[in-house]
Amino acid sequence: MNATSLATESSPVHVLVVDDDRDMVGLMRRIVERMGHRCSTAGSGEDALKYLATDSFALLVTDINMDGLSGLGLLEAARSSDPDLAVVMVSGLGDPRTAETALGGGAFGYVVKPFELTELQIAVSNALRRRELELQLRRHLHDLEAEVGRRTEELRRVSHETQVQEQRFRSLAQASPLGILYADSQGNFDYCNANAEALLGRTRTELGDRRWLAELDSPSRDQLETSIREAASGVPDAMCEYPLRRPDGSTVWLRSRVAPVLDDHHETAGVVVLFEDIGDHKRLEHQLRHQASHDHLTGLPNRRDFRDQLARRLVALEPGQCLGVLLVDLDQFKLVNDTYGHEAGDQLIVTVGERLIGCVPPGAVVARLGGDEFTVALTESSREAIVAVAETIRETLRKPVRIMGVELSLSASVGIGATSDPQAAVSSMLRSADIAMHQAKNRRDVVEVFDSSMAKDVARRLALTSELRRAVDDGLLRVHYQPVVNTVTQGLVGLEALARWSHHEWGEIAPSEFIPIAESIGLVHRIDSHVLASSLQQLAHWRAAGRIHSDVFMSVNLSASQLSNSALPELVHQLLGSYGLQGTSLCIEVTESSLISDIERALPIMRRLRALGIRIAVDDFGTGHSALSYLGQLPLDVLKIDGSFVAAIGRGGVDVAEAIVDLAHRFHLEVIAEGVEEPHQLARLRALGCEMAQGFLTGRPTDADHSLPTPASDPSRLPGAHPRSVPSEGVTRDEVPA
Ligand code: C2E
Ligand code: MG
Ligand code: MG
Repeated sequence: MNATSLATESSPVHVLVVDDDRDMVGLMRRIVERMGHRCSTAGSGEDALKYLATDSFALLVTDINMDGLSGLGLLEAARSSDPDLAVVMVSGLGDPRTAETALGGGAFGYVVKPFELTELQIAVSNALRRRELELQLRRHLHDLEAEVGRRTEELRRVSHETQVQEQRFRSLAQASPLGILYADSQGNFDYCNANAEALLGRTRTELGDRRWLAELDSPSRDQLETSIREAASGVPDAMCEYPLRRPDGSTVWLRSRVAPVLDDHHETAGVVVLFEDIGDHKRLEHQLRHQASHDHLTGLPNRRDFRDQLARRLVALEPGQCLGVLLVDLDQFKLVNDTYGHEAGDQLIVTVGERLIGCVPPGAVVARLGGDEFTVALTESSREAIVAVAETIRETLRKPVRIMGVELSLSASVGIGATSDPQAAVSSMLRSADIAMHQAKNRRDVVEVFDSSMAKDVARRLALTSELRRAVDDGLLRVHYQPVVNTVTQGLVGLEALARWSHHEWGEIAPSEFIPIAESIGLVHRIDSHVLASSLQQLAHWRAAGRIHSDVFMSVNLSASQLSNSALPELVHQLLGSYGLQGTSLCIEVTESSLISDIERALPIMRRLRALGIRIAVDDFGTGHSALSYLGQLPLDVLKIDGSFVAAIGRGGVDVAEAIVDLAHRFHLEVIAEGVEEPHQLARLRALGCEMAQGFLTGRPTDADHSLPTPASDPSRLPGAHPRSVPSEGVTRDEVPA
């Protein structure tokens, strides 16, 4: 290795050469500079220290033996102020002790004077290499330490974060309203929060042991175990709901959600089970279900629930058993509602519900279908037993009820549909009961059991309904007239107009059948108007033709609803005007029930009719709900004694006809007796002072062409000309069969 190659090995550095021998300093300087380094020189240790303090050097080459500060002293001072400074000692002493001291004090090389050029070059080069290596080592060490410090810091941070996170999760889990349970892959529950303990009613220790699962009641346990198994096999969200019985005996409704917990390799490491108390939810659900299936006013099952219960009872029917459906409808509920208000109506409904519950046998279902309609389903050993229950219900409901301080008398109509056939349909049972109930309603306060003829009635009623609409639209309804005669003279005083409907297939349909249908479908106004207009036109025609006396009046029946039609007086007024008739030519017949159903509205209409001179008659008197007080309050002119009282004349018993005539006269009303068929009836009525009569005896209702006797040439014999003349013997009126 030559000096040049050595010099090029390390990059140029700043070297301080120190020697109190000037020649030596010069020699060493040259050697160093030939090696390519920058060189400064000092002649003493003290000078060298100054240079070292002010400039930066990589290498110090110093003589050991100097006056003042020796080379060894300089070595110690220089190394302590700059540990990176490489030092080569040069000495005239070959003494190994000095060399040892120098090297021990930190010198990198030791050269003995006199030295060969290359010796110093090698020492300088080695020292610089060693310095370089040491520097590198120190940098490495420093870097290493920095890295270790960084990693340690990172570790500390991660561990702190893990701790914070764990604490956070723990707090979350503890604060969660859910019960939380964690099971490892072996199925051991090794974590639970306080809510899990509370919800499951077991301590942390008890829950740690898998045995608590086995202690649960069967369906709940099976559901929970299945969910845990599913989650463990990777099902993301296994759910189940179940009632759980706790060790203290209480029960809680729980919803569990079980989810797998995955490790870094996406393998299932365990499962987490969340428990939620769904008691409130279940209670609300129950409440809603109850509301949907029960009537809010009475708390009884509603129509839908009743149908479900009926269906279950039907399929459960055993041989020898009979299932009955009772439809119970209050008879005058609307009247109570209209008279005392809806609050009273509601109270009444509640009372009826309570009474029904109280009088049916155990096991029977009582439901409210709506309005005043209740229904009962019961299974008995026979139809008779079912009818007996229905009778008990009817009797129970007849007992007076006190509502808002008023005592009300009620009655109910009960229809029964019964079957022993488990195959029967719910709808047909309800229909049967409904048909029977409507049949019962016709008579009120009775129990009717469905039979097949009732169904025929209903079918006929349905068919009649649509045919009647068509008949009215096509103007197929006609009018017949029945004479009303003076009981003394038997002279014609009036005519009653009666609607007639002859069906092309079914023949004559009686008004008693089609008028109620027309009332129920709102068609009766058109019929009444038609009869009113036709009969007034006919009356005018007869008069114009000179066939009747001008005193003869036309009597027209009006249905109940007409009395609440405020346009009626005007309509009648116009009709009278258009046929040139006076109000006195018309008598309007209304039934008792229509008079009292809405007296407030009827009264002004009646007064306006009365003001036109029109007379008002109460038809079928004595058959309705006679509230005699109205006789004095309403503007009335005539009472018509119902045919049933006339038929009873002479058969013994109380003479109702006599009582009615007496009553009418006390209220200054005239009387017409209906349905007079026998001469003795007419004679008796005449004797009682009943002014007028109508019946088959004096003339059947018939069409306009046959309603009047053949006109006589003598105008004084015109029908109605002398209504109060002396009666002729026997019955002379020409009776024309309808
Ligand atoms: P109503 O007003 O009491 O009419 C008298 C009924 O008795 C008529 O029955 C008549 O044919 C019948 N009749 C008359 N004399 C005798 C008799 O001697 N013996 C018997 N057994 N019956 C007799 P009709 O025509 O069948 O009418 C029944 C009911 O239908 C009427 O009873 C009336 O309430 C109603 N009605 C008839 N036409 C109309 C109408 O145009 N409008 C309204 N709203 N109702 C009507
Ligand atoms: Mg009448
Ligand atoms: Mg009548």
